[in-house]
Amino acid sequence: MNASPSLTCPVCCSADLRPFFSLAGVPVYANVLLPTREEAFSVPRGDLELAFCSSCGHVFNTAFDPARLHYTPDYENSLHFSPRFQTYAAELASDLVRRYGLYGKDLVEIGCGRGDFLAMLCELGDNRGWGFDPGYNGEQDANPRLTVIRDYFSEKHAGGPADFILSRQVLEHIHRPRDFVHMVRRASARREGPVVFFEVPNVVFTLHELSIWDLIYEHYSFFSPTSLERLFLESGFEVLDVRPQFGGQYLSIEARPGPKQRASRPAGEAERVAELSADVDEFVRRYEEKTGHWEALLRDLRASGRRAVVWSAGSKGVMFLNMVETRDAIQYVVDINPRKHGMHIAGAGQRIVPPDFLREYRPEVVVVMNPIYQEEIRSMTRQLGLEVSFLQA
Ligand SMILES: [Zn+2]
Repeated sequence: MNASPSLTCPVCCSADLRPFFSLAGVPVYANVLLPTREEAFSVPRGDLELAFCSSCGHVFNTAFDPARLHYTPDYENSLHFSPRFQTYAAELASDLVRRYGLYGKDLVEIGCGRGDFLAMLCELGDNRGWGFDPGYNGEQDANPRLTVIRDYFSEKHAGGPADFILSRQVLEHIHRPRDFVHMVRRASARREGPVVFFEVPNVVFTLHELSIWDLIYEHYSFFSPTSLERLFLESGFEVLDVRPQFGGQYLSIEARPGPKQRASRPAGEAERVAELSADVDEFVRRYEEKTGHWEALLRDLRASGRRAVVWSAGSKGVMFLNMVETRDAIQYVVDINPRKHGMHIAGAGQRIVPPDFLREYRPEVVVVMNPIYQEEIRSMTRQLGLEVSFLQA
C-alpha cells in the first residue's frame, strides 16, 4: 500500500508514509452525552485510516476531518471522578511545582477544560492561573487564583504573563501540530523563556501493549516519543525531558525556547522508529486476534446466560463496544461520573448506569477497560457485595 503522493507527515513533513490500519464508521465523538438509544445509534461517524511515518515515528489518521468536530457542553471527558486518576494528577502537579519552582508564578494552560489541574497547580504554589478553553462551562469566579478565557490560545494572547505554559491531552486533537507548536514557540519568545509542558497519549502503548480501544476519531495525531520530541525540536525548542506517564499510557515533554539553529533530530531516532515500525507491521494481525477473541468470549457468555457489564463509559469503553460486536451480550456500562448516568454509548447504544445499579442487576462478569483502575473497581464491587469475575479488555 502507498499513501497518496500529496500526503505528508504533520510532524516532520516526510512523504515516507505507510498506511497500516483502517476502520470505517466509528463515532466522531466518543464522549458525547446521548439521552436515548436512538440518538446513540444515529451519531455522526467517521473513518480511521492510520498511517505511520517511517522518518519520525508518528502515527496519524489520514481520514481525519477537523470540520466534523465541534465541542459542545454536552461533551463529557473529565477523568476527575476516579481516585486513581486524581492521585496521578496530584503527583504530577506537585512534581512540576517542585522541579520548576512554581511559587507565586503566572501559569498558562492551553485547553484547560474545567480548570481542575490548573487550580491544583495554583493551590500548591500560590500561583496565578490563566486558562484558555473555548468550551469552558464552569463558573468564572469560583476560584480567585484562576482566570479562564473562553477562547483558543493564540498569538493575540502572547502579551500576557506566563512563567510556565502547559497543555494536557490537547495536541493530539490539533490538525496542524507544527503550526500550533511554532505559535507557542513565538508566543513564549516574548517572555523570560518559560518552560512548556505537554502531555499526550502514547502510541507505543497503543501499538505494543495493544491498547486498541485508544484509537478514537477525535485524535488526529498519535504521538511516539520520537515524533513528539521531533515536533518540539523543529519548532525551536530545547527539549529537557520526554517520559512515559500514567503507567506508560501517556507521554509528557518538557521544553524551553532554544536558539534558532539546533540539531533537529532526537537521539537514536532511526533505531527507535525501527522498533515501532515492527509493532506497526504486526498491528492488524494482533488487532484482529484481540477483537476476535473478545467476540468469541462474549458469545460464550451469552450462550451460558451469564450477565456481563463493561466498567467505564470513557473513550476506551465506547471504542470497545464499537470495535467488538457486543449488542446482545452487554446491556449496561458502569461509570462513576454522575453526568453520564442514564445516557447511552455513542454508536453502540448501551445504557450507562452508576455502580449502585449492580446491586439489583447482579452481573457475574465485569469487563475492566483500563488496567490502571482495576484495584479501584475491585474495591467498589466488594463494597456492593458482588461476587464477580473480572476480565481485562
Ligand atoms: Zn514524520
